Amino acid sequence: MLGPPGSGKGTQGQRLAARHHVPHVSSGELLRDHVRRQTPLGRAASHAMARGDLIDDELVISMIGEEVIRPDAPGGFVLDGFPRTVAQATAAYDIALRHGITLHAVVWLDIPRDELRARLQARGAAAARPDDNSATIGHRLDVYVAQTLPLVEFYTGRDILITIDGTGTVDQVAARIDTALDPVLRAGE
Ligand code: AMP
Repeated sequence: MLGPPGSGKGTQGQRLAARHHVPHVSSGELLRDHVRRQTPLGRAASHAMARGDLIDDELVISMIGEEVIRPDAPGGFVLDGFPRTVAQATAAYDIALRHGITLHAVVWLDIPRDELRARLQARGAAAARPDDNSATIGHRLDVYVAQTLPLVEFYTGRDILITIDGTGTVDQVAARIDTALDPVLRAGE
């Protein structure tokens, strides 16, 4: 799942994982859990997360590597929020290659910046996450454009990018994802 903060990739990633009975591996959730438990990774990540900056590639890559190559998850997985940089995408490709994992599709939730800002402010008002405050929101969107958006080109070049209109209700977006993704997954079986 690829998309800007506030695009609904967490919600859609969870739903997609439930639909296909596979784990939902969210780098943001995993990192927030490390911060809560005050692990060494959590302590190293907390300041950058609060600022809305990305965590060092090496730290995120090793954390995700451990999650996705667990032998108890043979049926695949939904990766949400990772990779987020071209360096991470290259590392993900290497990990996949070494472990015989095929990355079938990258679902990119495309959504206008004004709508994102409104959604993130609403989420911040609900106090769900400390990084959803107005000072950090603009910065997280800038970080997304500078560091994550190049992945759209990266995965277009690899022919696995599926662009989804991320506007509308959760159910509308979910229906678009299923329509686009189901044939790809059937072909990959
Ligand atoms: P998210 O829940 O996906 O919005 O992630 C929340 C925060 O966790 C981000 O703003 C980053 O600080 C950090 N984070 C999550 N995934 C990554 C990643 N793949 N690379 C670097 N930082 C990440």
